[in-house]
Amino acid sequence: GTSEDATGDGTSEDATGDGTSEDATGDASGAVIDAGVGAGGGRMREFVESEILDRFGGGSATVGLDALEDGAVHALDGDIVLTTDTHVVDPPEFPGGDIGELAVSGTVNDLAVMGATDPTALTCGLIVEAGTPESLVTDVLDSMAAASDRVGVEITTGDTKVMGAGEIDRIAINTTGIGRVTGEPLQAARLEVGDRIVVSGPIGEHGLAVLSAREGFEFGGDLSSDVAPVNDLVAAALDAGTVHAATDPTRGGLSMALNEFAMAADVGISVEESAIPVSEAASAAGEVLGIEPLDVANEGVAVFGVAAGDGDAVVEALHDAGATDAAVVGEVVDEHTGRVVLDTGLGRRYLAEPTGEQLPRIC
Ligand code: MG
Repeated sequence: GTSEDATGDGTSEDATGDGTSEDATGDASGAVIDAGVGAGGGRMREFVESEILDRFGGGSATVGLDALEDGAVHALDGDIVLTTDTHVVDPPEFPGGDIGELAVSGTVNDLAVMGATDPTALTCGLIVEAGTPESLVTDVLDSMAAASDRVGVEITTGDTKVMGAGEIDRIAINTTGIGRVTGEPLQAARLEVGDRIVVSGPIGEHGLAVLSAREGFEFGGDLSSDVAPVNDLVAAALDAGTVHAATDPTRGGLSMALNEFAMAADVGISVEESAIPVSEAASAAGEVLGIEPLDVANEGVAVFGVAAGDGDAVVEALHDAGATDAAVVGEVVDEHTGRVVLDTGLGRRYLAEPTGEQLPRIC
């Protein structure tokens, strides 16, 4: 069965495949994480000093990570957004990214779509299964450091725990973030009839790339996760026009995000299917996997509700910021309150929020 294949392959590749090749090259001698790393003693101090402090610094913190205190201290002033997200994606490394890049981007993006586009600091809670290759953990930490550098945010406090073999699947990461909102917080409830709905990039790539990797499908190497921080895109949109609401369409995808917009603001939303950017690779993967690209997680896309007259200016600013597929895909209307209507070109139908847990461990 599929699940047996997925589990069997994953386990044997991680335990034997990676370990063997590392032994062969002599790199890191196939070391694995052992329970001592999370035990709070000397082994943990070694791990923190060798693997954490080299990658993450104190940044602007009054008391930062390098102080090895019980917490970080930040001087803050104004409206502060606080958000948290736990990442459990399977597989932890997937085409286009890994759980480390996801953990930083996910929290940076949640801050950004609230209006905090220049995040102050992140925390990192790392939980690792005993026996996980150390190379996986260091790769993931490298990705977290690279994503943090790109954003210009520091991880200023964190925690590492090791659980027994079989008690958790390889690695889970919680990140919490804080950031200051400079204008009015972006909220779905602020949407107004006439607002344009803008998406910053192609829809469905992350969910379909992860699922394809998990199921062992390849789509000519064209399909990879869109995981990336979008704080610069949100900042560009805020500079270009009046943005009322923004969200990152993660679990449940664009369908869920637009339904949440409609319900929160007590408005209807109409979208044009032909205007929604979906890559050929995502369409093809969606057909093979039997999954609607609009229903799956994105990790590098922002959705905006923009004042009617500013839709085109925001799209242009997003293009200039590198989001070349950004487009106006619909608008807020005063009919079918609380619901989203999709114009397919052949007719109109409700775009429902996806039901149930179709896609576990996608982010
Ligand atoms: Mg979010």
